[in-house]
Amino acid sequence: MRQKIVAGNWKMNGSKALVQQLTSRIGSEMASLENGVGLVIIPPALYVPGVVESSSAGFGVGVQNIACWESGAYTGEISAAMAIDIGCAYTLVGHSERRQLFAETDEQIAAKVEQAVNAGLTVILCVGETLEQRDAGTAERVVSAQVRAGLANVSDDQWPNVVVAYEPVWAIGTGKTATAEDAQAMHVAIRRELKSIGAPADNVSILYGGSVKADNAPALFAQPDIDGGLIGGASLKADEFMSICRAVPGGY
Ligand code: PEP
Repeated sequence: MRQKIVAGNWKMNGSKALVQQLTSRIGSEMASLENGVGLVIIPPALYVPGVVESSSAGFGVGVQNIACWESGAYTGEISAAMAIDIGCAYTLVGHSERRQLFAETDEQIAAKVEQAVNAGLTVILCVGETLEQRDAGTAERVVSAQVRAGLANVSDDQWPNVVVAYEPVWAIGTGKTATAEDAQAMHVAIRRELKSIGAPADNVSILYGGSVKADNAPALFAQPDIDGGLIGGASLKADEFMSICRAVPGGY
């Protein structure tokens, strides 16, 4: 059975005060979640220790990015081993903002995934097509290629440490969301690709991300291949984030 996950990507937002406010609200309300969903908080790296301090409440903590090298003279970078050392269990890799603004390539992304799973982190590999690619009818081909390339270095025993997040680029931070049917169709295509590269695809959680809010989450999460969400803007508002977490159907 696949783990249902809701992960909050704070991007480059937050402060010590916000860490305190959000983690205490989330921590105290988590106990009332009855759907078995796993919560993950992904703050900017500098705030990870503050979030980890509150993580006894039961949520996981992640970083937004890691280096594609193990250690050494890479000023400004953070290694997978450091993320583990400071108390993280997760890392995002290949978020579309990293791909677009920092020109991350599929090869770098594959190297980061490799570093992450070798160190014992669970990687949330982000994939998604641009609006031009969707309009051109190539969305499925683009996303499948990203999945294949990004996970090229994962070995058989490391699949339990892999989560995929489907995030159409045109839906991130724009207020536009894929319809539940379109998102479901892409999740099926991703699962098919996972199968074709030898992953135990039925056990790999695939999250949807892109302007998920409390009002659209129930329809998205009701789809059989959508195993939760990667939430950006709405993860900075405790009420909204907890409503999204509650929208995951129970019984798993
Ligand atoms: C994200 O940053 O991964 C994301 C999905 O952002 P938003 O929810 O704000 O669209």
